[in-house]
Amino acid sequence: MFKKILVANRGEIALRIQRACRELGVKAVMVYSEADRDAKYVKLADEAVCIGPAPSPLSYLSMPAIISAAEVTDAEAIHPGYGFLSENADFAERVEKSGFQFIGPTPESIRIMGDKVSAKQAMIKAGVPCVPGSDGELPDDPVQLRRIAKAVGYPVIIKAAGGGGGRGMRVVHTEAALVNAVQMTKAEAAAAFGNPAVYMEKYLQNPRHIEIQILADKFKNAVYLGERDCSMQRRHQKVIEEAPAPGIPRKLIERIGERCVAACKKIGYRGAGTFEFLFENGEFYFIEMNTRVQVEHPVTEMISGVDIVKTQIMVAAGEKLPFTQRQIELRGHAIECRINAEDAYKFTPSPGRITAWHAPGGPGVRVDSQIYTNYFVPPNYDSMIGKLIVHGDTREQALARMRTALLETVVEGINTNIPLHKDLMVDAKFMEGGTNIHYLEEWLALRNPKR
Ligand code: ADP
Repeated sequence: MFKKILVANRGEIALRIQRACRELGVKAVMVYSEADRDAKYVKLADEAVCIGPAPSPLSYLSMPAIISAAEVTDAEAIHPGYGFLSENADFAERVEKSGFQFIGPTPESIRIMGDKVSAKQAMIKAGVPCVPGSDGELPDDPVQLRRIAKAVGYPVIIKAAGGGGGRGMRVVHTEAALVNAVQMTKAEAAAAFGNPAVYMEKYLQNPRHIEIQILADKFKNAVYLGERDCSMQRRHQKVIEEAPAPGIPRKLIERIGERCVAACKKIGYRGAGTFEFLFENGEFYFIEMNTRVQVEHPVTEMISGVDIVKTQIMVAAGEKLPFTQRQIELRGHAIECRINAEDAYKFTPSPGRITAWHAPGGPGVRVDSQIYTNYFVPPNYDSMIGKLIVHGDTREQALARMRTALLETVVEGINTNIPLHKDLMVDAKFMEGGTNIHYLEEWLALRNPKR
């Protein structure tokens, strides 16, 4: 096992990784920007290094700053968390070239999965079902474009090969709009991701977002830890996640889970990873793979009892997966609400000082958050300030626990989306389970028609 790991991230995930390190008896070096000087995990750290000013390009995205922090503290490995440099293959490569272990897959795996066109091609080869679409990157020629779209069938969606975070996508309903849409998405993709390549998929009308969590070691052992349902999204961003996915037969999950495990073995994947699928009419369609720990990993931890972050560290250190697929038992139901510093109605960010914070508690309640009374939410980063996760024997019990936990939670001084979560936890359709990816947006439009 490593003696010392550098945590190249901030916020709740930095704290989460620090906790995993403590349990493993590994020292964690925390890095922070000037805006995060007062973070809880910095104060509690074995060692902490300031890596630059608040803007992330100068700190959390600065490869030289992070690598030199690892050098001066004699860390052996770097955990990238999620976001920032976590899916940057060049970073993973530089980390390894500098003599550190990158806690994640190989740079090559990250590179293949980071380009959605090559990811899809790898998945088709590995026998994972994908959304029907173009055979790779789209050409410029309008005649060919029309032919491809006709074969795929309208509506289609044009997506950037290098896209992420729900950006770089455009739905096209008619042939008349096609060529222009492709050109616009290309121009946007070039500007936003530095890669103009786009591809086409059939636009699924009412799918659910279902993803499979996998863990793999360096010895080609791999397991899946069931699925998560992340269909409750706003602007393609997840708001509520749960596990298992309501109403999907276990047989179907097992079949797709086994396909994902087989794909991991085939591509020599190591570490934690998530296969994201759209699920419609009983079929799974791969959309992308995330090669890192995800925000919503706790719901899987709650139902499986597996510590995903600890396992990531163990397999990066060269240990074998400590369990086989047959030893994985999923129990009960877990739900996660992402708590954001934002207006619960208009969604405008609400950074600032938290004047009071009371965390919820009780059986089956977990809070992953960096905040405390008097904590200042910096305006420089993502608005998520924590996650509230509950576990129950049944989905009904989990819902009841979430309602109580939300009621007990007090955050004063800033606005949060807690009122939104309170409303959703008593919404009849959500309570029924199985809502699709458009449900939350439709619900919001009805809730606040003048917005
Ligand atoms: P990103 O990497 O930006 O998150 P994804 O490929 O994961 O992009 O897609 C994000 C979301 O966009 C999906 O969860 C889904 O809501 C929507 N989406 C993507 N592809 C399709 C498709 N072919 N049909 C319908 N919706 C889609």
